Amino acid sequence: TFEQSRLLKSLPKQFFASLVEKVNSVRAEGHDVINLGQGNPDQPTPQHIVERLKLAADHPENHQYPPFRGKSELKQAAADFYLREYGVSLDPGKEIAILFGGKAGLVELPQCLLDPGDTMLVPDPGYPDYWSGAALAKVHMEMMPLKEENDFLPSFDDIPEDTAGKAKMMFLNYPNNPTGAVATEEFFRQTVEYASARNICVVHDFAYGGIGFDGKKPVSFLQAEGAKETGVEIYTFSKTYNMAGWRVAFAAGNASVIEAINLMQDHLYVSLFGAVQDAAAEALLGSQRCAKEISAMYEKRRDVFISSLREIGWDVRSPKGSFFAWLKVPQKYTSEEFTGLLLEKAHVAVAPGIGFGEYGEGYVRVGLLTSEERLREAALRIKKLGIF
Ligand code: PLP
Repeated sequence: TFEQSRLLKSLPKQFFASLVEKVNSVRAEGHDVINLGQGNPDQPTPQHIVERLKLAADHPENHQYPPFRGKSELKQAAADFYLREYGVSLDPGKEIAILFGGKAGLVELPQCLLDPGDTMLVPDPGYPDYWSGAALAKVHMEMMPLKEENDFLPSFDDIPEDTAGKAKMMFLNYPNNPTGAVATEEFFRQTVEYASARNICVVHDFAYGGIGFDGKKPVSFLQAEGAKETGVEIYTFSKTYNMAGWRVAFAAGNASVIEAINLMQDHLYVSLFGAVQDAAAEALLGSQRCAKEISAMYEKRRDVFISSLREIGWDVRSPKGSFFAWLKVPQKYTSEEFTGLLLEKAHVAVAPGIGFGEYGEGYVRVGLLTSEERLREAALRIKKLGIF
C-alpha cells in the first residue's frame, strides 16, 4: 500500500459520503427511507436534449478529439443565452469557458488565481466544494456568515477591513444552497462596488439560476454594472435542465479569469465529449418550456412541503429559489442529532446544517427531490415523532 500525499490528506471530509452510508444502513434494515438529503434531480433530461445527443453521438466529428477550450457552437450558444435571458453581452471567444460541470470549475478557480497562503472569502453556510478548492490551492478561507435576519446575504460591513484587504477571491451563490435564499440586483450592485474597490475577484455560483419562485426570475451577477470587470459566473446545466449526469457547465464573465481557467484546463483536459457540447447548446437555444416546467415543479413541491410542515406545527421559512428548504431545528437538538432522529425514527433523510459550516448549526437542509406525495408523507412521518 502507498501512503496518500499530504495534499490529499489535507482535503476536507466529504460529508455526503457518510450521509449516504447512513441512509443505506437504514434501508438495509428493510425500511422505506424518503431521501431528502442529497441534491440529485429526480426527473429525466428533457427529451429534445437527449435526442440531440443521440444524433451528435453518430457524427464522426465528435469521435475525434474535441477542440481545445471547447466547441465554438456551445460558447456562442452560451453568449446568445445570456443576451436573451439577462441582457448581458459576452464575447464567446474571450468571456466564456466550457467546464466539466460546475464543481470542477469552482474547485479549480482558486488554483487559477491565488497563491498558497492567499485569502478567499466563502459563505457560511455554503456549498462544501468551495472548501475543497481552498484546500487544493492551500488558500486560507475567511467565512462570511449568512444570517437569517439578513435574508442569508453576507454583510460586507461586518468583514474586518484588514481581512477584506487581504482577500483575493469571494464566492457567492444565489439562489443559495443550502438556504434557498435569492439575491437582489441591489445586492449584486453592492458586491461589485465592494469587490472592485478591493480588487477581489467575485465567483458567483449560479447553479440554481433556473429555479426561482413566486414569479421572480433569479438575477444574474453579470447583470450588475461593472460585474464583468469584477468576476465570473458559473452556470451549470445540472439543475435547470435536469442534466446532472452529463457533467457540463460554463463560466462567463471577466476575460482574464476566463483565460486563467482555460489555461488550467489546457493542462488537465482537452474538452468534453463533443456530442455533450452539441446537446448542451441545444438546451440553451431550444425551447425553454422544459426549464420553466422544471422550476414550476419545484415551486409546487415547495408549496406542498412547506404547508404540510406548517400544518404539523413546524414553523418554517419558505425558500425563494433553488430546490432546498432550510429548516430551523428545535432548540434542544443539534443539527446532527435531529438528522439522526429523523432518519432512525421517521425514516426521512435530511442533511445536517453543520455539514455546510459553523453557521449552518441549528438547521437542516431538505431537498425537494421527490414527488409531492412523498413530501407530504415525510411531513406526516415527522408529525408522528410528536416533537412539534
Ligand atoms: N454549486 C452548487 C451550489 C451546487 O449545489 C452544485 C451541485 O449540487 C454545484 C455547484 C455543482 O453542480 P455541477 O457540478 O453538477 O455542475
